[in-house]
Amino acid sequence: MGRHRREALPERKPSWLKVKAPGGENYIRLKHMMKELNLHSVCEEAHCPNIGECWQHGTATFMILGSVCTRNCAYCAVAHGKPPEYDIEEPNRVGEAIARMGLRHAVITSVDRDDLPDFGAYIFAETIRQIHQRLPECSVEVLVPDFQGNVDSIRAVLEARPEIYNHNTETVPRLFKKARPGGRYERVLEIFRTAKRIAPDIPTKTGIILGLGETNEEVVEVMKDLRTVDVDILTLGQYLRPSDSHIALDRYVTPEEFRELYEIGMRMGFRHVESGPLVRSSYHAWEQVQAASLA
Ligand code: SF4
Repeated sequence: MGRHRREALPERKPSWLKVKAPGGENYIRLKHMMKELNLHSVCEEAHCPNIGECWQHGTATFMILGSVCTRNCAYCAVAHGKPPEYDIEEPNRVGEAIARMGLRHAVITSVDRDDLPDFGAYIFAETIRQIHQRLPECSVEVLVPDFQGNVDSIRAVLEARPEIYNHNTETVPRLFKKARPGGRYERVLEIFRTAKRIAPDIPTKTGIILGLGETNEEVVEVMKDLRTVDVDILTLGQYLRPSDSHIALDRYVTPEEFRELYEIGMRMGFRHVESGPLVRSSYHAWEQVQAASLA
């Protein structure tokens, strides 16, 4: 990419960003299975620090619709360009693999596919159906792109009945142009309004990454906006710069600040807030399904 300020990362990560090496029994079983089935999880490819904990609990995140994104967000490590044709058999294979792994909670995400007429919604919907058919006890969370706000695409995914409809806000409106040039803040809010209108009983979820240059006050303002469109679950985590050609890391947010934002969020009425330096949008997702379906 090379279009962002090149500067050295702070030399040492703070102690709160260090995690134990993974190694539980279920983690090892899933690791072997991923290799055997030749599957690619976001957990492994993004070197997610939570992999030991998530896999031990039977949660994993899969990327569908290829590995080339039509957008170019400044914080994201995924390759961008013109994606190749997608594989119509993919939902089948993902469903099959998840059933063999016996997951409790599967997170399905994708690159942006602005090149497709439905922005990839059909493949999402079909993947949800295939997983539910093969492994009804596995909850499915979709972490979808914005589908350019297209109502038919949002509807197609919701009609397949995922347990959670997740779309990340990522940052505060002031930083959208710099961090997420293909996205629009207002569109994010509109997506949640639409999702609740179509399927009021499906919990909605979003995430914000901190450390891109936003202030905590701006984050709180975004949280208020998200409550006005009835978002149920919120994740707040620390931005970790994938390389020195990605958008600069502004600061490490402390665990105390994350705790404070958690409390503010719970007071605002989110059903679940996951807030901490290592939080990723699918972190502790298995607990969120329970929390969100209680009310
Ligand atoms: S937080 Fe998400 S990406 Fe990371 S290991 Fe857990 S499921 Fe995978």
